[in-house]
Amino acid sequence: MDYFKYKNGRLYAESVAVDDICEKVGTPVYIYSKATFLDHLHKIQKAYSSIPTTICYSVKACGNINILKFMAQNGSGFDIVSAGELYRVKQACADTSKVVFAGVGKTDQEIIQAIDAGIGYFNIESEEELQNLISIASSVKPDQKPKAALRVNPDVDPKTHTYTTTGKKESKFGVDIERARKVFAQFGKNNAVDLCAIHVHLGSAGKTVEPYIEALHKTNALIDQLRKDGFTIEALDLGGGYGADYETSTAPSPDDYARQIVPLIKDKGLKLILEPGASIAANTAILVTKVLYRKVGGEKKFVIVDAAMNDLIRPPLYGSFHFIWPANVDEKFVPEKRDSKLRLDGTEKVDVVGPICEGSDFFAKDRELPPVKRNDYLSIFTAGAYGFTMASNYNARTRPPEVLVDGDSFTVIRKRETYQDLIAQEKQPD
Ligand SMILES: *Cc1c(COP(=O)(O)O)cnc(C)c1O
Repeated sequence: MDYFKYKNGRLYAESVAVDDICEKVGTPVYIYSKATFLDHLHKIQKAYSSIPTTICYSVKACGNINILKFMAQNGSGFDIVSAGELYRVKQACADTSKVVFAGVGKTDQEIIQAIDAGIGYFNIESEEELQNLISIASSVKPDQKPKAALRVNPDVDPKTHTYTTTGKKESKFGVDIERARKVFAQFGKNNAVDLCAIHVHLGSAGKTVEPYIEALHKTNALIDQLRKDGFTIEALDLGGGYGADYETSTAPSPDDYARQIVPLIKDKGLKLILEPGASIAANTAILVTKVLYRKVGGEKKFVIVDAAMNDLIRPPLYGSFHFIWPANVDEKFVPEKRDSKLRLDGTEKVDVVGPICEGSDFFAKDRELPPVKRNDYLSIFTAGAYGFTMASNYNARTRPPEVLVDGDSFTVIRKRETYQDLIAQEKQPD
């Protein structure tokens, strides 16, 4: 569900016409809907309300501090993967006790900063990392006893892109679930770090509930065993990766997940932590771009737009689908739903490509679109997660602005970069 809808052939973000924003701010531009963020957060909160649950929204999906701020105000905690993200979260005045810190390569500096900030849990990815956390906590920060969750690798395949699969044995994340007992036996009783939780994260963009259930059966068995071994396990962090509707109604809803997950946790005396990223952020934004040129090459028709892979890299990086449609259309072209196979009377097959000199600079290939012309606005939907956060300055392109719509008003929450920004850190040798 989201708040991007056509009215009389004109695309609106909540109550603001998208073409109005583009006229004032220019293109390309990321346009977010605040109501969509909060709707998604509240649906997850409600779905899990029968058990103690902390939702730690994954900052790397979409981390503008204005967004983090209203997420925090609405009860969200945060999943971070770097001290840079910790800085963002603190700037957003978040409750740092509701922050979890994952990542296979935390530096000493990052660990010290996170202990200082009083984060909720370090999600530990290896024995060496745990040893290092214990050593830092006991030498540098002896007055504090940080909490840690052991990230276990349940060897479950979420059946998504290999780049976003993280819970299989061959992946670099976590420790094999069979090794978890050994890790607890060796380090579980130290005085510097409270190892008292289990973490799993299967990967991103799952489309079914089953992998979570499979993983939960394994973590439940492990937790029972660890408790028998005499360890206190107070929390289970089930990670992120819940499906998002890149196509209308293709992902399980928060209720679909909770209906199967909650019964498996309810009687275990565990706090539940969830780390949703894409399932909250994906449908909160569109990337709007302008048609620069049309051209024909052999059998193919190209639509060349003013956004490029530096602005949104998901199609070439993950082969991911983004629904694309003009922001202003004849009534007969208003799409009923966002569907990779949508074809209407009068649409034509095109490739939507950017201006960068690489074959990988595309948003869609062989896609049915209503006829477009120079200066038309195209909306690239479901661009809220791993959109702006993965944007770069490749080709010395300035990164686009981020606009937040709230009801009938909008605010530029990040300015378009300038050429001066591009060279601001570059220095000539003396
Ligand atoms: C990226 C990540 C998430 C969020 O994943 P989504 O697919 O965006 O929900 C959650 N937890 C960890 C540890 C991650 O690395």
